[in-house]
Amino acid sequence: MIHTINNKLQSLSVARCSSLAFTLLLLQGGHAQADTDLTSVSWIHGAQNCETARTEPGYVQWQEVRYQSNTIIFRQNKCSNYEAPFVYLFIGAQRSLLIDTGATEEGGASLLAAIREITDLPLIVAHSHGHGDHIKGDGAFSGQEGTSLVGVGADAVQSFFGFDNWPQEQAELELGGRTISLLPTPGHTDDDLAYYDPVSQFVVTGDTLYPGRLYVRNWSAYRASIARLNAWIQEKSVSYVLGTHIEMTADANVDYPIRTTYQPDERSLPLAPSDILKLHETLMSLEEPERTYLGSFVIWPVN
Ligand SMILES: [Zn+2]
Ligand SMILES: [Zn+2]
Repeated sequence: MIHTINNKLQSLSVARCSSLAFTLLLLQGGHAQADTDLTSVSWIHGAQNCETARTEPGYVQWQEVRYQSNTIIFRQNKCSNYEAPFVYLFIGAQRSLLIDTGATEEGGASLLAAIREITDLPLIVAHSHGHGDHIKGDGAFSGQEGTSLVGVGADAVQSFFGFDNWPQEQAELELGGRTISLLPTPGHTDDDLAYYDPVSQFVVTGDTLYPGRLYVRNWSAYRASIARLNAWIQEKSVSYVLGTHIEMTADANVDYPIRTTYQPDERSLPLAPSDILKLHETLMSLEEPERTYLGSFVIWPVN
């Protein structure tokens, strides 16, 4: 079941966005800048007793937040899966891009149904990276009419998007009046991608950077990726740096226990370009892989 967030703040933001967009379109003939404040959005964050919560009438598998009419963020319920990933939908004039399908098979079906209520355009289903908690819903999209599913693994990602020089160079994806840029950022795994959308001005960083434990499997690749990411955003206007989980509490340097299904006081989702710079400078200063707390996230080397 899908649920559009129904808090007053969100409704006001959406209403304000719409009238502002209309005014700006009239005045400038261009895109309006979004002004929904993602730092104040309250996300579904699980329950003390998920078994009970799942049977309650108001239970939802996904929470849907419209940042703009054509830019939508979904979060999966922690009671559906403790990973509670975020997925991103960008709608262009000709086609749409979905980044990730969630952490469960049944979640994929309800996500697809929610998207089809929003847009009938052809849909490209890509991923932040190929870990199970971001691709488990793929099966619901596979073979669907009007849907192209990007494979998992660096080879599949390179060939779908036509990367010439992985991971050094970016690729572009045209949605119609909306050209998404993609930058390889391997290190957490081998097929991580960062996405930049010029309409929302989001940088989507997947598990490479989010308010939580940044699991680094390939240290040298990760350092190089963050250096590249930092350089890449220098010439871009960025509204938010958005990852695919929240694992931190609202208190700096305090993370929730791994596998928790209840995060009543979690940190807000957005990070900023300054966080990319902080991560980059810290990685450059570390001689060896070392667990390092940086307030809103933790560098967490793993083998
Ligand atoms: Zn991952
Ligand atoms: Zn993940």
